[in-house]
Amino acid sequence: MALMIEIGHDGWMTEAELRAALHKYDPALDIRTRAEPGDLADVTMLAVSRLAPDLPAMLPNLTLVQKLGAGVETIVAHPALADDVRVTRLKSDAPAREIAEWVLGYILREQRQMRQYEAAQQAARWDPVAPRETPETRVGVLGLGFIGGRTARLLRDLGFQTHGWSRSPKEIDGITCHHESKGLSTLLGQCDHVAAILPSTPETRGMMDALRLAGMKPGATLLNAGRGDLIDEPALLTALDAGRPGHAVLDVTSVEPLPGDSPLWSHPGVTITPHVSGWHLGEALADVTANYHRLRQGEPLLHEVDRQLGY
Ligand code: NDP
Repeated sequence: MALMIEIGHDGWMTEAELRAALHKYDPALDIRTRAEPGDLADVTMLAVSRLAPDLPAMLPNLTLVQKLGAGVETIVAHPALADDVRVTRLKSDAPAREIAEWVLGYILREQRQMRQYEAAQQAARWDPVAPRETPETRVGVLGLGFIGGRTARLLRDLGFQTHGWSRSPKEIDGITCHHESKGLSTLLGQCDHVAAILPSTPETRGMMDALRLAGMKPGATLLNAGRGDLIDEPALLTALDAGRPGHAVLDVTSVEPLPGDSPLWSHPGVTITPHVSGWHLGEALADVTANYHRLRQGEPLLHEVDRQLGY
């Protein structure tokens, strides 16, 4: 049994760094790469950041694909991945905390009028505006899972009126929880800031369309740290021009990197960050080695995803 690793893109850790990090947890781990594959029939587990189109067909005994992150949309629906190949993801405190901080940071930017002060300073203009009051502000979090749940609890603990939305009904102390389409409309119509931390699935793709955007509170902030395909981007540009929402903060876009000629870059109502809201893996790689051994011993895997549901 061997583990093959592949990052599949630039701008993150290298395979050499990943190999070294995994060997810290288990020095005996038999780790292969595309450059040093050994006998490919040994490989039963693959750990990838991006799953290349040709890789599954090269591995006749593949039984598990471990995503080196949380979003599994390209893996669960990978056309070359046999139906019985299992998929696991990481659930790590470090990126969950970082995403919650990103959401909070950009919400506070609106609460404390920081965008306005940056513009005022450019014009040497002394222009005091009252900050918005936290207890009077309603925030909504779309997705109440590992990351969204943590984000919603952080906002609640700071005193925001906090609402959340998920697929299944939930009860979370101090958070008004909604579900189903009607619940989403209620949340969007009431919240001053809405942060989406949803997976990309057939149900969520394109969900924030012209109709949903028009149902947002005038002037509201829409933040997206989940996946870019949640939002119909042409509809968003039109919606911003109409003031619903008033501003969008996007860490993720439907095409990444966002092309230089995208109108999102220059629209005054859009703030872009380049898919950086959750960055560090923390101790999550320990779960990759744990899953390697669990697979070998036939034990339940950590953080297995439902390939049918897509998350
Ligand atoms: P989880 O699987 O723990 O939670 C997903 C949440 O979304 C759940 O509350 C789930 O509802 C809800 N959900 C899923 N489908 C629907 C739907 N159709 N309608 C309503 N709610 C739905 O995922 P995480 O919180 O760990 O991560 C969420 C996403 O964030 C990841 O899938 C990934 O794409 C993205 N991400 C982005 C990063 C970045 O750097 N920008 C970094 C890490 C992750 P229920 O609770 O009922 O199942």
